[in-house]
Amino acid sequence: MRSTGKLHLGNYVGALDNWVRMQDQYECFFFVADWHALTTDYADTSKLKQNSIDVLLDWLAAGLDPERCVMFIQSHVPAHAELHLLLSMITPLGWLERVPTYKEQRENIQEKDLGTYGFLGYPVLQSADILIYKGDFVPVGEDQVAHVELTREIARRFNLFYGKRNQIFPEPQALLTPAAKLPGTDGRKMSKSYGNTIMLTDPEQVVRQKLKTMVTDPARVRRTDPGNPDVCPVGDLHKVFSDRPTILKVDEGCRSAGIGCIECKGWAADALVSILNPMQERRKKYEDNPRLAWDILEAGSSRASKVAGATMDEVRDAMGMSLDYKLDH
Ligand code: SF4
Repeated sequence: MRSTGKLHLGNYVGALDNWVRMQDQYECFFFVADWHALTTDYADTSKLKQNSIDVLLDWLAAGLDPERCVMFIQSHVPAHAELHLLLSMITPLGWLERVPTYKEQRENIQEKDLGTYGFLGYPVLQSADILIYKGDFVPVGEDQVAHVELTREIARRFNLFYGKRNQIFPEPQALLTPAAKLPGTDGRKMSKSYGNTIMLTDPEQVVRQKLKTMVTDPARVRRTDPGNPDVCPVGDLHKVFSDRPTILKVDEGCRSAGIGCIECKGWAADALVSILNPMQERRKKYEDNPRLAWDILEAGSSRASKVAGATMDEVRDAMGMSLDYKLDH
């Protein structure tokens, strides 16, 4: 996850809650991608470190547990950069120019100059991030599947050139995160750039206030007009966060105009607050003692560095750059 600063409910539902479950099913490496943040936000790095720490605090708040997974900041494991350099030597330019997000972001993001070497190459950096741990699976949304495919192609090419009869890098598989539809307060996709987020750190009164102003099914102009929770962003929130009886109550009450939107939004706020409260308590423990969080990062980067270091020994050996004194490899 990029160093975006504090996370919102969309980040939680789209990725983080899935990661929390995954830490018991797999040996997981999660890192805050500060170098990836630089590929688009290189001009001002004054908030970079704080943003990385805020992401980590939200991970801990959501339930990632340093006893059950490895958490670190990307730049604290410089081996990622060495592998990125080596992979960049064998990656044809055409492969990168074809990545769908490359064209799309260059066209859509006008306020920054993305005509940089780093931005074109960021999928190679992602490949290095994955391959350095010989990852079998990468949890991604639909929009990132092309990047995992590129990683597989790069792994194949590397193995072909340098693997001799050995396969140095396994080809990772995308582990698709089921995309839950999470609208922001204005009904569009929840995103910081739209200013429509509910943050994991929002206090109860802020959550309730944001819900109050959230858009609803436009068909319900008057209290007596029936609505449809399937076309209402608040209805979507219920489907993700509320229990079954509440969802049924909303469905019935909305369609029959038996309930009002204010009441309905109050129930949605209740559901959110009951999820956010325990997170905010966990976060507070680390906010009160930031050293604790930093210790987790240090322990995480040291565990990650060991695994990454072993891979890099193999890579250097395979490419004829072993650190041992021997002429053959
Ligand atoms: S009752 Fe609830 S689901 Fe129906 S329109 Fe109002 S806020 Fe949306």
